Amino acid sequence: MHAPDGEQNGEARIESRQTSISFDIFTLFPGMFSGPLDASMLGRAREDGVLSVRLHDIRQYATDKHHVTDEPPYGGGGGMVMKAEPIFRAVESVLSSSWAVGPVPPADIPVILLSPQGRLFSQEIAQELSTKRCVALVCGRYEGVDERIRQHLATDELSIGDYVLTGGELAAMAIIDAVTRLLPGVLGDPTATVHDSHARGLLEGPHYTRPRVFRGWEVPEILLSGDHAAVARWRREEALRRTFERRPDLLSDADLSVEDHAFLARLLRERGSVQGRG
Ligand code: SAM
Repeated sequence: MHAPDGEQNGEARIESRQTSISFDIFTLFPGMFSGPLDASMLGRAREDGVLSVRLHDIRQYATDKHHVTDEPPYGGGGGMVMKAEPIFRAVESVLSSSWAVGPVPPADIPVILLSPQGRLFSQEIAQELSTKRCVALVCGRYEGVDERIRQHLATDELSIGDYVLTGGELAAMAIIDAVTRLLPGVLGDPTATVHDSHARGLLEGPHYTRPRVFRGWEVPEILLSGDHAAVARWRREEALRRTFERRPDLLSDADLSVEDHAFLARLLRERGSVQGRG
């Protein structure tokens, strides 16, 4: 069992985050990023200088006349493979020129290859990345990238889920979004992310807003009580209930208090008696 830690743990994690982050994106389709990075909180974070995104068109780093960035695979088979050379040249020249003007040596910048074969991206990895000043993201296309990029350039490989996208751009956007919202000031309330689903091993409980009654469906009475302690306990129990029902696998890593364990034991007993009756 983990020690119950109230808000302190969450605040400590927030403090270890950077106040700003810079992403270097290597892609064949830089145009895909406008829109998602301009709107709402990410747009504001960019305006405020919390988030900076530099888009690098890999094609510009192909030195041949036709700027070729992909070739058929050795050994045959369908599809095209992204060539190693333009990607190496793009990443190495951008990271070393950033070092000339910026505070982070290239060796300290994670170079993350987006790939359906990578580590599964999670809230924990988002938190880990939110402690970095600069992150490089390499977006693959077609059949993927030449294996030597994976072996000798990337320092990490991340997947956003067990499915295959046409390219790494949407995965890069998901990562930028999840990491940026963890930075101080992006969400307004600096503790907001502490209660999020996956932040501390639990799913978040339900939310309600006006009107109090909608089509005859009422907001739980306790939320209108004004009793802050009772509301906090209800929210905790609903988060436990939701996690127990939907993602019981998460509970083994959650920070659980003695009261939480007692509540979960009650849920288990209730489930047992329902199954017994069935
Ligand atoms: N042939 C590859 C395979 O089976 O592993 C899939 C290549 S996919 C069509 C093209 C590119 O999309 C990949 O190189 C990667 O950059 C990106 N991609 C696809 N699915 C992804 C995922 N789940 N997470 C992150 N990136 C993904």
